Amino acid sequence: MYQYLNYINGRDVAAADGRTFTAFNPTTGGQWGTFALAGAEDVDRAVKAAATAFRSGPWSTLTPTRRGRRLMKWGERIAAHADRIATIETEQNGKLYAEMRAQARIAEDWLYYFGGLADKIEGTVIPIERRSILNYTLREPLGVVGVITPWNSPTFIAIMSLAPALAAGNTIVLKPSEITSGSAMELARLAEESGIPPGVINVVTGFRETGEALVDHPQVAKVSFTGSVAAGRAIAARAGQRLVSCMLELGGKSPNIVFGDANLDQAEAGVLAGIFAAAGQTCVAGSRVYIEQPIYDAFVERLVRRAKKIVIGDPLKAETHMGPVATKVQLEKDESMVKRAVAEGAAILCGGSRPSLAEFPDGYFFEPTIVHQAGKDNFLMRHEVFGPVLAVTPFKDETEALALANDTEFGLAAGVWTRDVRRVHKMARALEAGTVWVNTYRALTFNSPFGGYKASGIGRQNGIEAVYQYLQTKSVWCELGDEIQDPFVMKV
Ligand code: NAD
Repeated sequence: MYQYLNYINGRDVAAADGRTFTAFNPTTGGQWGTFALAGAEDVDRAVKAAATAFRSGPWSTLTPTRRGRRLMKWGERIAAHADRIATIETEQNGKLYAEMRAQARIAEDWLYYFGGLADKIEGTVIPIERRSILNYTLREPLGVVGVITPWNSPTFIAIMSLAPALAAGNTIVLKPSEITSGSAMELARLAEESGIPPGVINVVTGFRETGEALVDHPQVAKVSFTGSVAAGRAIAARAGQRLVSCMLELGGKSPNIVFGDANLDQAEAGVLAGIFAAAGQTCVAGSRVYIEQPIYDAFVERLVRRAKKIVIGDPLKAETHMGPVATKVQLEKDESMVKRAVAEGAAILCGGSRPSLAEFPDGYFFEPTIVHQAGKDNFLMRHEVFGPVLAVTPFKDETEALALANDTEFGLAAGVWTRDVRRVHKMARALEAGTVWVNTYRALTFNSPFGGYKASGIGRQNGIEAVYQYLQTKSVWCELGDEIQDPFVMKV
């Protein structure tokens, strides 16, 4: 059993009231480890450590170039420890070891990019009307950023959120998901080994209440949240009470549209990757697939045939395609959403239940599932499952495909499969989503903006834009001449 405490000001610290909680391994259903259960007092301690590091610690006196260098070094160390981090994550969330390892390794690219941006944060000189005045802007960090992350890609999402905030000069209190808190502790320790001073990255562990205490803390200047729409709404409302802004990366119900002229081998692989990779537990899961009528039956048959061949089992093994879902609650959700979809008229084409795996009788496994005849108002078409459940629907033309795809409160991502270049760009403009993938799916990188339209989020991760989410702009006016100003009339 692993044992972790809070990580505050470079030290492992038990919860003030000594409480702990237990985390489980979804593959075996057994206990994995214990964590400190942080309450408001612990959050206060962590935020104060971060505030001190921001105001007067060595972080505030480092030049942006040196700050960036340390972020780069941190990336190298995370990549060097990718095996350990991936093992911890796979044991905690059941996702494939290969994917968790790849995500830990590419932290290096993210931190290289954002470390490099640290000394490229520039203000501007503004050519205002009054020639005697020098007017320029300063872009300044906000202070302590409270970061709350989900369980599905713990290191990847923590790095996506922390890298731009740190590059901008802020300090952090991170509240990872209660399901996967282990890797966050490892990241914080590696940060310190890389020369990022104590207090710059603090980690408090716990459930919703710990997150709420962080959002409510008067010294938290910004909240970065990745998770469900429901939690995002609650957090934004709370932060709104203090007039603190939020960066929100939320859920989705992303459409994937397959036209008859597409390369169908490519489309088949992309559609499957969109929904069954990570057992459907990705925010960008392409969970609604719309297929042009003339190819509907044949393409659905291909998807079903391939889905039935997916190897379900131990996520630590290289031959496994799909591990368990992360929690018992998630397993029950997958099951009940499929049942409800069927009760509302949908039909199951494959999957729909828990497979029986002799090796893991208590694991949280769910079969790759494909349903059809789920009408547009079926519960399944309106709500995120966050599991390996795909709904397929035919469409007759571009107009209908667009109407169906956009008929959702979400707007995280969308996929289009076609060889028609004019159609590609018409669809890309008309789809209401922060990311549109054409003839590919689930691609993401550090220098291309990522985020949601509509209820899928506010703000952008990745790319230069991400750094600006963690800066505020100051306008400085300096009279260079001897002009005496009129005390009663404003001069513009
Ligand atoms: P979740 O919303 O239940 O929890 C996410 C985090 O928020 C956890 O750390 C949790 O303890 C905390 N939390 C929950 N309610 C809170 C509240 N009211 N106040 C403060 N903190 C609170 O999400 P999850 O189940 O961990 O993750 C799955 C969800 O995350 C899915 O909806 C998925 O689409 C979304 N997600 C989005 C992205 C993205 O980049 N857009 C990426 C990954 C996951």
